[in-house]
Amino acid sequence: MPTLMKLSPAEALDLQIDTAIERLRVAVVKARSSPGVADEAAQAVAGLNALYAQHKTAFTAEHIRFANVLRGYLAERLEAHRPKGAHTKKAKRKGDKLDHCWRCRTPVDERFEAECPTCSEKAYKWRVCPVCAGCGCQRAGTVLV
Ligand SMILES: [Zn+2]
Ligand SMILES: [Zn+2]
Repeated sequence: MPTLMKLSPAEALDLQIDTAIERLRVAVVKARSSPGVADEAAQAVAGLNALYAQHKTAFTAEHIRFANVLRGYLAERLEAHRPKGAHTKKAKRKGDKLDHCWRCRTPVDERFEAECPTCSEKAYKWRVCPVCAGCGCQRAGTVLV
C-alpha cells in the first residue's frame, strides 16, 4: 500500500485552487475545437469564483493573473465559433486606457452597453465586456474571474 502524504490545510487549499484552475485550463483547450464545452467552462468559472470568495487570501497574484488569462482565452475561443457579426467601434471615453477589453481583447463596440455598478465610480464607469463579462471587478479583486 502506498503511504499517502498528509497535507497541511494550507497545502490542501493550494491543491484545491490548482485543481480548479486546471479545470478551467482543460475547458479552454477543448474550447478551441468544441463550442459544446461552454457549460463545462461556465461551471469551472463558477467553481473558481466560489473558491475565491471563500479563500481570497490563499490566491496568489499568479493564480489571479493566470485564471484571468484563461478566462480571456476561453471567451475568445467560444466567440470564434459564433457567426461573425459586423460591429461598430465606440470612441474612447475620458479615462479609457484601452480601446479593447483588457481580458479578451474584444474591441469596444456597440455591444459594450452595460456599466458595472459594483466597480464603477462617479469618475469612471467600467463597461462590462459582452464577450468575457470582464469589468473592473477582477482587477479590484471583488471577483476572481
Ligand atoms: Zn472581454
Ligand atoms: Zn465590475
